[in-house]
Amino acid sequence: MTDQKRPATEHVRCAICGTPFPDPEFARNYPNLVCRECDGLALTGGGDKPRHESAYDDGDNPVFIGGIKCWRRYRFGGFVTMRDSYNCGDISEFYERHGRVG
Ligand SMILES: [Zn+2]
Repeated sequence: MTDQKRPATEHVRCAICGTPFPDPEFARNYPNLVCRECDGLALTGGGDKPRHESAYDDGDNPVFIGGIKCWRRYRFGGFVTMRDSYNCGDISEFYERHGRVG
């Protein structure tokens, strides 16, 4: 839908638990951003803890939080996790369909 077209004043909330982000300016840069707490529950499709290769800005994708498919963007030795609303095949399709904000 048009979920990502939010007014600038609206609180940006975790796409899974709905908790408002303490830093909405950051959160607004990513469609369907997931908070750290939910992110801690992420598992791979095989049910393992997701692997994160911080030295290479790489790791497992997609990941699943309570069975909800999410994509991770790995960069600068860290990552952000975003909820997939359309069951995308890869992260490029994710960005295409969710609209990159900012
Ligand atoms: Zn959350």
